[in-house]
Amino acid sequence: MSKILDDQLINYLCQIKDVYGDEIYFENNNTQKNNLESGFSSSISSFEDQINKCHKCDLGNSRTNFVFGVGDENASLMLVGEAPGEKEDLEGEPFVGRAGKLLDKILNAINRSRNKDVFICNVLKCRPPNNRDPLPIEVKECEPYLKHQINLIKPKLIVALGRIAGKTLLGVDKSLKSMRGEIHNYYDIPLIVTYHPAALLRNPNWKPLAWEDFKWIRSIIETS
Ligand code: SF4
Repeated sequence: MSKILDDQLINYLCQIKDVYGDEIYFENNNTQKNNLESGFSSSISSFEDQINKCHKCDLGNSRTNFVFGVGDENASLMLVGEAPGEKEDLEGEPFVGRAGKLLDKILNAINRSRNKDVFICNVLKCRPPNNRDPLPIEVKECEPYLKHQINLIKPKLIVALGRIAGKTLLGVDKSLKSMRGEIHNYYDIPLIVTYHPAALLRNPNWKPLAWEDFKWIRSIIETS
């Protein structure tokens, strides 16, 4: 290091010492840097305003409402489904209708709700026609929004609801059975896959298995 740089560094450290004493603080600017690099807003509400007119894929032309997600922006638990369905498209909110009510009951059973320590959203923010599976191009265009939501919320755990959400997030083509019961990794955040509440309505025999998963989910959040 040159003498000039040495002197500049010493001056800087002396100034810091005057302000903070013997302790040196380094600010973690990674989140801010990521926001600046992506061009995305640095708060959840302004991010929704920023992207809710999106037409990056064809679903922007067929949707009734953009479905950003709902919940606690400091949530430790983030639930992610595949895409809005018919009711979600009409109401602009994820997981409404019978499946949504069942999800609310499950969350209550682990002392949470969609506004308390939980954020709920989907991989796609617009409804695919006739509830078909998301296309790879739609996931490619929309997934940066989900990643930024995760970046802002910083959950302790992500739960993918259903096989399609699980395989979309993990980039694998596996059955729900083979993804379930394991802690995966989604951009350095633990992720587990469990049943979609609509599947539990169709197959009530799976409810005890889902309840085991949600007890596990609670213990992961509360011990990490
Ligand atoms: S699905 Fe996502 S990428 Fe496509 S239009 Fe809607 S918000 Fe934009």
